[in-house]
Amino acid sequence: MKPAESVYRLSTETAFSVLAEVNKLKETGKDIVSFAIGEPDFDTPEHIRQAAKDALDRNETHYGPAIGIPPLRKALAEYIGSTRGVTVNPDQVCVMPGAKPALFHGILSCVGPGDEVVYPNPGFPMYASLINYAGATGVPLPLVEDRGFSFDHDQLRSLVNEKTAMIILNSPHNPTGGVLTPADLELIAELALKYDTWVFTDEVYCQLVYEGKFHSLYDLPGMAERTILVDGFSKTYAMTGWRLGYGVFPEPLVPLITTFLVNSVSCTSTFSQYAAIAALTGPQDFVRDMREEFRARRDLLIDGLNALPGIRCHRPGGAFYAFPNVTGVCRSLGLKDASALQQYLLHDAGVAVLERECFGPRNEGEAEEYLRFSYASSREVLAAGLARIAAAITK
Ligand code: PLP
Repeated sequence: MKPAESVYRLSTETAFSVLAEVNKLKETGKDIVSFAIGEPDFDTPEHIRQAAKDALDRNETHYGPAIGIPPLRKALAEYIGSTRGVTVNPDQVCVMPGAKPALFHGILSCVGPGDEVVYPNPGFPMYASLINYAGATGVPLPLVEDRGFSFDHDQLRSLVNEKTAMIILNSPHNPTGGVLTPADLELIAELALKYDTWVFTDEVYCQLVYEGKFHSLYDLPGMAERTILVDGFSKTYAMTGWRLGYGVFPEPLVPLITTFLVNSVSCTSTFSQYAAIAALTGPQDFVRDMREEFRARRDLLIDGLNALPGIRCHRPGGAFYAFPNVTGVCRSLGLKDASALQQYLLHDAGVAVLERECFGPRNEGEAEEYLRFSYASSREVLAAGLARIAAAITK
């Protein structure tokens, strides 16, 4: 008796292992400042919680349709239509317990053995894991510090070919906070059309853009027919624990996704979906206020990091992550790499961060060292963490 071999092709999100280590240290009485967690530290707004309570009181506690309740799918089609500038049919919208299931079902329903999938590296670790699980070949697209963690256009051109079944993009981006430009998106669209590929656009940080407006490739000519657009409620409405996300799929994929959902989760929690309608159709000032707070924290963190010797940090345009180059600190402390620095900061400074390889192996020729900081904590916590790092690297 042994587990299926395919299960070993899945890999995990190291952030969760670091969190477990942080919690263990905290249990032993150690005081840790954490920059490791990728979730808003805000509470879900009151009117959204109230909508869930009202739904519970109406006994909206039964199974619902596999791909979501019709009023939520309609509200989502309107939301995507108004934020991405295209008409979306509610029939294309599949509600799921988080954006993660949309990644899972979306990638597994479109790629398989023999296919190549281009994905960002560093990147959200689930992309590479699911590509492997599907039996396809992952083709990492390096994101470049000098380009604000966008990619080199010639390099993307060299990676996409007849074998490419899907191009995955994530903007604003985890872990770098980078935002793709309209020219980047146009190139992806051009190559997707030329080589007839799927496009998977993970837009969970679309409401956290600090400079200018959010751009999606969904409205570019020919894209809606080949694009799976994924978004969710976790980051925009501080609803990580509710497990609410969705995908907008090309219509021919919808029956396949429905079958996947019937096989995996049956449906998404019904009363949570009523809360989701309240989130989308209620007042949006929470979203704006949270974004402004994140902007202030971003500036505090980036200025603080750039003031430290041996650290250089690009000011990210979105999400709530900073991805400083820490090569200088590693060298001056005699540490081999960012992984050793992550351990040093955790155990000697009481500061939890994630090293670059939590987001994929280094790209060919990549010699610099990076850490990911999440600034989803209060300004006081950020200032305390910066002071600890300053003390630990200059002692
Ligand atoms: N996509 C990216 C890029 C993320 O960073 C995350 C969460 O960290 C997700 C998807 C998953 O979000 P959800 O909580 O909706 O499953």
